[in-house]
Amino acid sequence: MSAQIGVTGLAVMGANLARNLARNGYTVALHNRSIEKTDVLLEKHGHEGNFVRTESLQELVDSLETPRRVLIMVKAGGPVDSVIGQLAPLLEKGDIIIDAGNSHYEDTRRREADLATKGLHFVGVGVSGGEEGALLGPSIMPGGSRESYDSLGPMLEKISAKYNDEPCCRWIGTDGAGHFVKMVHNGIEYADMQVIGEAYDLLRSGAGIEPAEQAKIFTEWNTGTLSSFLIEITAEVLAHTDATTGKPFVDVVVDSAGQKGTGRWTVVSALELGSPTSGIAESVFARGLSSQRDQRAQAQEILAGHEGSVALPETFVEDVRLALYASKLVSYAQGIDMLTAAAKEYGWELKLDEIASLWRAGCIIRAELLDDIMKAYATADGQPANLLLAPAFAESIAGALPAWRRVVSTAVQLGIPVPVFSASLAYYDGLRRRRLPAALTQGLRDLFGAHTYNRVDMEGTFHTLWGEDKSEIEAVDTH
Ligand code: NAP
Repeated sequence: MSAQIGVTGLAVMGANLARNLARNGYTVALHNRSIEKTDVLLEKHGHEGNFVRTESLQELVDSLETPRRVLIMVKAGGPVDSVIGQLAPLLEKGDIIIDAGNSHYEDTRRREADLATKGLHFVGVGVSGGEEGALLGPSIMPGGSRESYDSLGPMLEKISAKYNDEPCCRWIGTDGAGHFVKMVHNGIEYADMQVIGEAYDLLRSGAGIEPAEQAKIFTEWNTGTLSSFLIEITAEVLAHTDATTGKPFVDVVVDSAGQKGTGRWTVVSALELGSPTSGIAESVFARGLSSQRDQRAQAQEILAGHEGSVALPETFVEDVRLALYASKLVSYAQGIDMLTAAAKEYGWELKLDEIASLWRAGCIIRAELLDDIMKAYATADGQPANLLLAPAFAESIAGALPAWRRVVSTAVQLGIPVPVFSASLAYYDGLRRRRLPAALTQGLRDLFGAHTYNRVDMEGTFHTLWGEDKSEIEAVDTH
């Protein structure tokens, strides 16, 4: 029996993707470095569809129809290169290697360029939705050549999550575009979780609302503009009581947040692209601070906090909801701005409305808001330069603004850290300023380093002779 696709790497994600493919009617050849995982899958789930058991990569390749499609789902990094190194010599021109793991997009670009010289297609695919998504329908962000998508796309679309019957899978762009978009998705996910944490902290440490009560608030919030998977599961986690102690579950969990690196990648990449992704960056730093438990324990004993009481506005809970909404919107705006910068840098024709549409189901950041974001970029009247400039969002953020300012200033007075709420507000205030103090920065740079500057009133590059008579000369641009 010829298989339509082969999957190598049958840990939880690979096994679930293979099962998803088989459940959707495809014949799937299975391979894993060690045979045990292949046999466990076949034993437990072999009845779910047509599988072909193979023990070696050669057998896997031999079992496939041409052009061959081999999906790699092994540990990201070196193992992916190792598998590609073994697989590529067994394949023929026109065959497709797919890496659906969480690879760095620069690795994907390198692998794609290398395999293209051998006549092989390499498709880096971002997959979001965790284990359950992989089995039941993830959000899928494929990169690689358009030609390879023609062969592979229908399969990926079939196994993807659906939003109003539309597949959450579209061709994103060449080489590393799919993995880049997945990385930014994860960066937004970090910020999304952090703003939820800040809202929880404000309600708990500021207003004294216990987790069980907050669960009801988050459930209520999930019916409005904040409606999303993450808000829904926040209510579930906050409502949970620890069976051993009878305490709220959140109170028995160590408060240091882990990370696998995609948030960090997003921020490094944002810095390289010069994209002001401050909310996402603060969310990654917040995890860093959370992990410095010893320092925090000492600091709590030594460092001064706020003194006296702060009267909370009567609207505090609603204010927090609006501040959460506005900050979340800024994170999306910053993530999308980064996509725009990357498209320019790497020559990708990213379609922002389509990308937003892929995130509406199957993935961790799925939210009602994404439908509106999609519409903001689907307009025929020219795309907004920034998400926040889309008329619907400019209006909704204006509505949230007084509350957002009240919440950030109350948090500052109370000494409750709200790094993403406040960084997002600072970004918003910076964005809406025609003039920034960067003019002074340029003056300082020119004085100490003769870095030159441009003038608002004439063309050219200038330098002031600071150490002489302070006259101005035309200079070579060294910005
Ligand atoms: P994993 O724990 O990242 O990797 C285990 C798999 O990799 C096993 O099949 C293992 O084979 C294979 N492997 C490791 N080194 C290898 C090598 N040198 N040569 C050949 N095979 C090797 O598996 P996972 O959690 O299913 O994740 C797979 C990918 O999906 C990763 O890139 C991950 O970041 C990404 N991802 C994971 C999730 C999630 O929720 N877990 C979500 C999205 C994306 P053996 O059985 O022989 O050891």
